[in-house]
Amino acid sequence: GEGYRAEGSLVLGDIFIAVKTTKRFHQSRMELLLDTWISRAREQTYVFTDEEDDALKRRMGDHAVFTNCSAGDSHPALSCKSEKHSPCHKPLVSSFLSPHSWFCHLDDDNYLNPRALLKLLSSYSATWDVYLGKPSLNRPIRASETLPNNQTKSVRFWFATGGAGFCISRTLASKMVPWASGRNFLSTSELIRLPDDCTVGYIVECKVGGQLLPNALFHSHLENLQLIPPSRLMQQVTLSYGVFENKLNVIELSGPFSPQEDPSRFRSLHCHLYPDTSWCQQAVGW
Ligand code: UDP
Ligand code: MN
Repeated sequence: GEGYRAEGSLVLGDIFIAVKTTKRFHQSRMELLLDTWISRAREQTYVFTDEEDDALKRRMGDHAVFTNCSAGDSHPALSCKSEKHSPCHKPLVSSFLSPHSWFCHLDDDNYLNPRALLKLLSSYSATWDVYLGKPSLNRPIRASETLPNNQTKSVRFWFATGGAGFCISRTLASKMVPWASGRNFLSTSELIRLPDDCTVGYIVECKVGGQLLPNALFHSHLENLQLIPPSRLMQQVTLSYGVFENKLNVIELSGPFSPQEDPSRFRSLHCHLYPDTSWCQQAVGW
């Protein structure tokens, strides 16, 4: 942790934040995150990507981690998510080896509010089994697990949608290690042939006896983000932007930047949260 801490209180330094990205999003998505929320959580944020990039390295130093994921580190996802993703599991695996109390995993189209995250995690203890996020479906997913004798068993479990981010306590993470570390994560995901976010839910609920704690403060662009009241945006832990039902799906926020200047609305949100940011004071109307 950093600085003074009251007994039992949580500081940002206790949280490991992993952001998953890929080369073609370094400029379009990562620059935006670096200009906004990552600037307020630099020490504990690590970006995991698939290709070397000097520009990213210049901005992040050793907090940009090149995973060198070979084709063998991922497998085609059969459901939950489309096959365009090459889920590489190194972000999850490496984070569990760090000494932090909490591990949070995000996509590169998520805005993370560090203050809201601290407030949320402060209401739990990292010594409990905690798995927090937005349920991907309104019911547990059913999967067919391959058994050692090549028979199959039907399993049911909840999982947090990767696109909204999720957090895992240290205690739960250490119980997950036999299924999640090294090559084990891949072998585990092959048992159910589902992508990484599903596999996390499977390990938690079917292997170590934990359960997803659904939390309404995590958001992906697979929900209508316009439905979040503007007055509640500052309390959300994660937000997102993207395309949903063929339309641009972004949070509803009037300014300080126009939708043309700030299509994701992340810069505007950041100025509401951190008005002392230099480029916020220069924004029109402020
Ligand atoms: N991603 C990746 N490799 C890829 C494609 C995507 O690591 O080949 C990452 C991407 O950077 C993002 C996440 O996977 O963090 C989800 O990708 P995206 O938002 O493009 O897709 P979605 O599932 O939200 O439609
Ligand atoms: Mn996305």
